[in-house]
Amino acid sequence: NDASTVFDVVILGGGSGGYAAALRAAQLGLQVALIEKNKLGGTCLHQGCIPTKALLHAGEVADQTRESAGFGVKASFEGIDINGVHAYKDGVVSGLYKGLQGLVASRKITYVTGEGRLSSPTSVDVNGERYTGRHIVLATGSVPKSLPGLAIDGNRVISSDHALTLDRVPQSVIVLGGGVIGVEFASVWKSFGAEVTIIEALPHLAPLEDENSSKLLERAFRKRGIKFELGARFAGVEYTETGVRASLENGKQVEAELMLVAVGRGPVSQNLGYEEAGVATDRGYVLVDEYMRTNVPTISAVGDLVPTLQLAHVGFAEGILVAERLAGLKVVPIDYDGVPRVTYCNPEVASVGITEAKAKELYGDDKVVTAKFNLAGNGKSKILKTAGEIKLVQVKDGAVVGVHMVGERMGEQVGEAQLIYNWEALPSEVAQLIHAHPTQNEALGEAHLALAGKPLHN
Ligand code: FAD
Repeated sequence: NDASTVFDVVILGGGSGGYAAALRAAQLGLQVALIEKNKLGGTCLHQGCIPTKALLHAGEVADQTRESAGFGVKASFEGIDINGVHAYKDGVVSGLYKGLQGLVASRKITYVTGEGRLSSPTSVDVNGERYTGRHIVLATGSVPKSLPGLAIDGNRVISSDHALTLDRVPQSVIVLGGGVIGVEFASVWKSFGAEVTIIEALPHLAPLEDENSSKLLERAFRKRGIKFELGARFAGVEYTETGVRASLENGKQVEAELMLVAVGRGPVSQNLGYEEAGVATDRGYVLVDEYMRTNVPTISAVGDLVPTLQLAHVGFAEGILVAERLAGLKVVPIDYDGVPRVTYCNPEVASVGITEAKAKELYGDDKVVTAKFNLAGNGKSKILKTAGEIKLVQVKDGAVVGVHMVGERMGEQVGEAQLIYNWEALPSEVAQLIHAHPTQNEALGEAHLALAGKPLHN
């Protein structure tokens, strides 16, 4: 009986953080129980990263079809077959889901489907059984948040979960929140043919990014016909005969068929026995040190449940770190500034390191140098008819501390930027590396040439 075993580690939650911890711990020879109430893979696979990227890609295909004449190709865009889009998206998800289930099975992980509850610092109760572990990893993730008094009805006022399975392309949408999730859906719906208005309380879209990236994104969205109200505080929403009407504190009103609430996600930590076990939390987030240890010696926590970056790859890294620590390996804390961040929309915003504003705060205005390379000077971008820019932030005479990119598929370029940042490479060293021509990646090399004082195509 599995429930009578004392496991090395019992993991609560089978999303990116939890399953990465489970896979790595099992690989290192630990006996692992993984408890998941819904589907292995969690938000990222079923309601997040993967399905949204499939929608974005379908939107990209639609846009390319509309723009085909500009490339001398005859094709006409007839519309979106939303059932076909869902079939494509669900096919991607189910393929990956099967693969993941196979991995968990092949690593001899005890996988339990059911809603778990922490019953002591060394046990989790699920389906009427108690699973005991020398260590517990909490990985219960996050769910969409709303604003006080704003009810998500799943019909006219929806969350990202509902947006992913919407059975139609709305004619018009209000997107409340211009952060990563908001701009992603705004981009998808615009490509699908909807009228889109984003409402963002802060002065910019993608407000956590370097201001230059936000402004470039705004310019591109404006060009695509996506509307937005920036620095606009939401006051309330009412139902109209056919949709919704949102009011802003500045007196403006926006009407649409439906409203997506994309104001962030909150941790899943209530009524799970965390407080009773003495786990310290702050606004629901489980507090951890740089080794992902909570204040309770037997309990670690990872992923969206802890107050670090809410990204799948951060969850993977935190899960792996915990597994290796529990297996007795030497582990190094994560440098969160060195984690690549991508805002997926058309165009993409990608970055690693810190913004220019942050660099000036840390090092002083006169110690910060920047260089930009506009994609207008990049051959491959011209071929693809895409606009954008790469901006570097350098500490004078030192390493590059921030790389900020805007452009189609820039997420695919952030890997090299990440190596440059994490290896603290000097611009002169990067400028020595020859980038393949013509690629969009070449633009990153050209930005470094500019910073090293020898610009080529700008
Ligand atoms: P989750 O993935 O939320 O997993 C937690 C799991 O715990 C869930 O499966 C849940 O069912 C389970 N659980 C909760 N309570 C219990 C319980 N009591 N008993 C048993 N099981 C329980 N990140 C990126 O890096 N790139 C992207 O492109 C990206 N796109 C996104 C798009 C959207 C629309 C959304 C919503 C998120 C996106 N994210 C993206 C974020 C990413 O999905 C999360 O950072 C990631 O899923 C966090 O992993 P996690 O394991 O902490 O939590």
